[in-house]
This record gives sequence, C-alpha cells and structure tokens, in this order.
Amino acid sequence: MQTFGGIKMIQANYHVHSNYCDGKNSLEEMVKAGIEAGLKSMGLSSHMPLPFLNDWTMEEANLENYFKDIANLKKKYALSIELYCGMEIDYFIDRKDISELAKKVWPRLDYTIMSIHTIGSTYRDDISYIDDSQEDFAKGIRNYYNNQSQKFIEDYFKAVGNMVKKYQPDILGHIDLIKKYNQGNFFFNEKDTWYQETVKHCLDVIAMTNTRMEINTGANMRVPGVGRYPSDWMIPEMCKRNIPITIGGDTHSVEGIVNEFNEAEAILLSCGYKEYWILKKGRWESQPLGV
Ligand SMILES: [Zn+2]
Ligand SMILES: [Zn+2]
Repeated sequence: MQTFGGIKMIQANYHVHSNYCDGKNSLEEMVKAGIEAGLKSMGLSSHMPLPFLNDWTMEEANLENYFKDIANLKKKYALSIELYCGMEIDYFIDRKDISELAKKVWPRLDYTIMSIHTIGSTYRDDISYIDDSQEDFAKGIRNYYNNQSQKFIEDYFKAVGNMVKKYQPDILGHIDLIKKYNQGNFFFNEKDTWYQETVKHCLDVIAMTNTRMEINTGANMRVPGVGRYPSDWMIPEMCKRNIPITIGGDTHSVEGIVNEFNEAEAILLSCGYKEYWILKKGRWESQPLGV
C-alpha cells in the first residue's frame, strides 16, 4: 500500500479506459496496474458506443466481448481486487437524452458514469467536441452559438443538471471538462461571477439527486496545467452541499492508474471532505479519507 504523508492512499478508481475504446492498454493490463498500485476496488468504464461516427468509443460489435472479458477478470483476480463493469455514457445536449443503446445496455452494468463531450448537433457525423482541441471547440461555439461562449457554458451546465435529475447516474464525470482548452481564458474566465453562479446553481441541482461527483485526476496527463475536474474552488461548494464524491483517474494507460490521487486526497481533506465512496461487495459505501 502506498502512503503519502502518513495517510493511506485512495483505494478505488472508477474511471478507467482500455483499448476497447481510446485507452492504450488492455483491460487485464489496467487491472494488474490497479492491483500493483494498491487499489482494492476498480471500475472499468469504456466509452459507450455512440449513435454517430467517431474514433474514440467502443464499437457496438465489441459489447459482448467487453462483458465477457470483465466477467473473466472478475473471477481471475477475485482474491486481489473487486472489479466492476461500468461504462461512461454520453448525454447529448441537443437530444436532452442519452442514446437508445445506452438505455438498453444500462441494466447490465454494475455502475454508470455520465458525461457530456459534444457541442451542437449530434445528428450528423461531423460532430464538434468540447474536449478534442481548442479549434474544434471554437468551431462548435461558432457554428451553434454564434461565438457566444457564455451562452454555451450556461447550456452545458443546465444540461448537466438535467442529466443527473433525469438519470441519476452513479457518477457524474468531469463536471467542468469545458475548461480543458480554456488556456489563457480563451472561452471564459472562471473567476467571473456569472460562471461561478452558473456552477453553483448546477451544484444545487446535483445535491438534490443521488449522484456522486467525480474528482477526476486525469486532466494534467492529457493537457498539462489543466488541473483537476472540478476546479479546486468548487470543492468547498460541493462539501457545503454534502455532495458525495468518488475518485476517477480517467485513466487511459497503466501509467495513470493512480495519477495525482494523493494530491486529490490532500485537497479534499483541506476543503472539509471526510469521506469518499467506493463499491464494496456490489454496494456503495463511504470510506474515510486520510486514515
Ligand atoms: Zn469523459
Ligand atoms: Zn473518460
């Protein structure tokens, strides 16, 4: 077990990709890396196939193999780690919904993460994303929001609120992914009152549901300097509202299996959080931080 300043490390990671989608390593390599890092509970969460062309989600044809592989890994590593079969499900702002396939597959999953990655219409194959590149995000804001970033950001957080109210997924993924390409405040300034009020209103909505918020520690591995999702200033606001949390590495390779877990634990403790949630024997349980 790794320790940090005398505290035991976070023992779970529920946001793990593999080569079933846009991750580098196989499911088994990710599981082995988790065991080696001292994780006790781990969720595998490939991107749910999407109803339009893309190069980053699982293919629908691979769904059955995904379920089979995870069932086998659960048995093979049962003495070392608890494994859970999840998926990261996309919610579409324009559809105000998830895909029909996601609704069909959902009952077979041990848990769900829900996230938003798209901007504008998802009824075509030329999709714009908020997390692919700054140019692509800007193109989406130009095409669908007449260059008004604020209008999109407000729509985005409103959609996050509607998504958790409607579906109450186990975990809300990377709440402020929209800052991934906001270097130099290109799209918005997090310190602006309108932004902070928009976020706080969204937190109010989340607090009324059973959904846990993810502390996503994978951001810096993909774009150095981005920080974490959510930004540190939001954590006391979440704590004040008693919003439960999980830790998710958004891990796309074995190297990132516990990336910045210790830093996340330290900031959570300093903001007043005393526990995080983990799956144990198939049930969500709170786990003390920092002991
Ligand atoms: Zn995501
Ligand atoms: Zn992810």
